Amino acid sequence: MGHRASPNAALSSEDPLTASAQFVRGVGPARFELLRKLGIETVHDLLFFIPRAYEDLSDFRRIADLEADKLQTVMGEVVEITGRTSRRGLAIVTVVLHDSSGVLEAVWYNQPFMAQRFHYGQRLVVSGKPKRSNAGYWQMAHPRVQPLEAEETLPVGESAILPVYSLTEGLRQEQLRRILRHAVAQYAELVPETLPESLRQQRQLPGIAETLRWLHQPSSLEQAQQARRRLAYEEFLILHLALAHRRRDVNAQLRAPPMTLTRTLDARIRRLFPFTLTRDQNRAVAEIARDMKQDKPMRRLLQADVGAGKTAVAVYALLMCVANKYQAALMAPTEVLARQHWQTLNSYLAHSRVRRVLLTGSLSERERRLTLGEIRMGQVDLVVGTQALIQNDVAFHRLGLVIIDEQHRFGVLQRAQFRNLGGDSRLQPHYLVMTATPIPRTVALTLFGDLDVSVIRELPPGRKPMKTQLVPESKRRELEKYLRSEVEKGRQLYVVCPLVEGEAEDDAAGELFREPTTVSAIQKAATGPAAESAGILGGSMEPNSFVQPTPYKGAEEQYEYLRQGPFRGLNVGLLHGRLDERRKESVMERFRRGEIQVLVCTTVIEVGVDVPNATLMVIEHAERFGLSQLHQLRGRIARGSVAGECYLFADVSSEISRARLRLFVKTTDGFELAEADARLRGIGQFFGTRQHGVGELRFANLISDVDLLEHAREDALQLTRADPGLRQPQHHQLRQAVLERYGGRLDLAEIG
Ligand code: ADP
Ligand code: MG
Repeated sequence: MGHRASPNAALSSEDPLTASAQFVRGVGPARFELLRKLGIETVHDLLFFIPRAYEDLSDFRRIADLEADKLQTVMGEVVEITGRTSRRGLAIVTVVLHDSSGVLEAVWYNQPFMAQRFHYGQRLVVSGKPKRSNAGYWQMAHPRVQPLEAEETLPVGESAILPVYSLTEGLRQEQLRRILRHAVAQYAELVPETLPESLRQQRQLPGIAETLRWLHQPSSLEQAQQARRRLAYEEFLILHLALAHRRRDVNAQLRAPPMTLTRTLDARIRRLFPFTLTRDQNRAVAEIARDMKQDKPMRRLLQADVGAGKTAVAVYALLMCVANKYQAALMAPTEVLARQHWQTLNSYLAHSRVRRVLLTGSLSERERRLTLGEIRMGQVDLVVGTQALIQNDVAFHRLGLVIIDEQHRFGVLQRAQFRNLGGDSRLQPHYLVMTATPIPRTVALTLFGDLDVSVIRELPPGRKPMKTQLVPESKRRELEKYLRSEVEKGRQLYVVCPLVEGEAEDDAAGELFREPTTVSAIQKAATGPAAESAGILGGSMEPNSFVQPTPYKGAEEQYEYLRQGPFRGLNVGLLHGRLDERRKESVMERFRRGEIQVLVCTTVIEVGVDVPNATLMVIEHAERFGLSQLHQLRGRIARGSVAGECYLFADVSSEISRARLRLFVKTTDGFELAEADARLRGIGQFFGTRQHGVGELRFANLISDVDLLEHAREDALQLTRADPGLRQPQHHQLRQAVLERYGGRLDLAEIG
């Protein structure tokens, strides 16, 4: 066994694992350049280069023992290669393989180049479903083929599972496999063990050397899976140790004003709402109140499905703060939303003496100076605003609570710096972040591992079921007529387009859906409770009838088309991200008042806009939006007393678009859609990874590894309690790993 470092590695560095991968057997300078293209520099990188898949060759047979129509694998030597053209002009390549028991023909149609792929005497492993040819031979059409290197044998029984690595041009699968076999044999035993023995036992995880062998040379798929899970657990553990540490740090140093909540105050606040809070809202309120009674700053994330009623919870917290004689601030991501919150607050506070102001970017210089003066002097209790709230010249007299309505532009909390006067820089306001995007629990724990999370899932009672329907192009006219008649009866309509013009635009381009390569993820996702999906148009989802022409109309064109065509005589408005704030606000205001009946828009309306009378929506090119985003959009029309109707036009010629939209039509559960979205698009869509200091996870899957994540988080908290600085010898490697991965980004002064 080659457990010793190679002499070359020893020359280049003390630690053989940080030595260049060039010195691994089978690499050399030319291949090293290819490895670098795969991001592999060191021996360590190589060992942790995770296979992207495994080929299960476990049903390995002699050719004579094959059975028809079952996936099986054989190994044989190429004895004949023929290329011919059929009478109908179809190129047919046949490669005949021979093993000691018989012959098999591998056949490719319409791929003449396959003839050049193979050579006589070459040994191939082929997998496929064989059939008997007319001549009585076994035949496999378009089989998977793995060429074997000269000295490579297929270790039947011992390792019927072959790793499949990502490749780069010039590097073949079997070469990389061989390199990894050498690397594992030579170096796996030298990799330091990060996980303490006790944890490994408790969680039943293999040691690191075994993990690496199982990763690259598993003898079963279960072994490969166990290896990956061990690495995923480790990844989560390190992340959560870092988060636990940051949290401890924050908690240890900072102070916040503790607030009180009496029964009288509670009742007084509740009387302001024209409804009673739902169970989920009550739980969120209780959790927030409990935090705000502490002298440590609250750091809480309030997650709610669209329309579940975050605002009431926010108002509760704001008033609790104000009643305690501290100032409270509510920050929204856009001016439109800040204004909307302002109006909501004003309606609740119509008869209250709470002094309040709206601070946005569109105040005049004089107004702004005046307002800032009032905030600084403590003459206002409640400030609603945009990011204008965190500009340098804004200082508070006694700020006790900040609520950030991020919708789904996460990361503001990290950047938010509120200036609080009063001298003591350790005295912080309480923080509550609200998001309208349901986030799978795993994602929330990872992104916001240092925040506490409250969730409002249940919708207020009495909501009408939403109708969602995919409409074929051929029914466009009919739908337009129906919508026109509904609008004439007084309802309002959104028409959402992915782009302003028929080209990329800031608002939408970044969010556009990129098609994944697998359908299985969707099929997995497409479970769960069915929702209402009736509409005016019935009918099945025939793929061909749904193809929308491209290039397609942007919002501007759609606007012209609708107002001159089907909606002539109605009041049609246009709203998109390229309009300036004042113009946007005036369009929104006219829509809110009902002056504008039909609003053609881009996703600018997605963020939290609330117009109860707007209960109709058409989404053009729905295939271009992510599921969560569609859910946000649809949420806009779920606010009134009339059931919302959402009609989708989409190009569903691809199976994937069809499956996604089918799921969207079927379910209105935002959390379910978010999970499906996370599976399909990755979690990157929920946030800009980097700004969170959470790098991409390499081994862990945030959706399917929930159990590992929960365990790792639990263990991290436990470890942090038992050994805060990870000083004990058995934690040495773990501490090292946390520092390496997160040291630069976290303030680990105490550890480091
Ligand atoms: P979101 O979480 O999407 O911001 P909102 O706070 O805007 O949701 O609430 C959506 C609508 O539901 C509002 O019109 C609000 O008045 C109403 N609402 C909120 N809570 C309740 C409740 N407990 N009972 C009845 N209606 C409620
Ligand atoms: Mg809202």
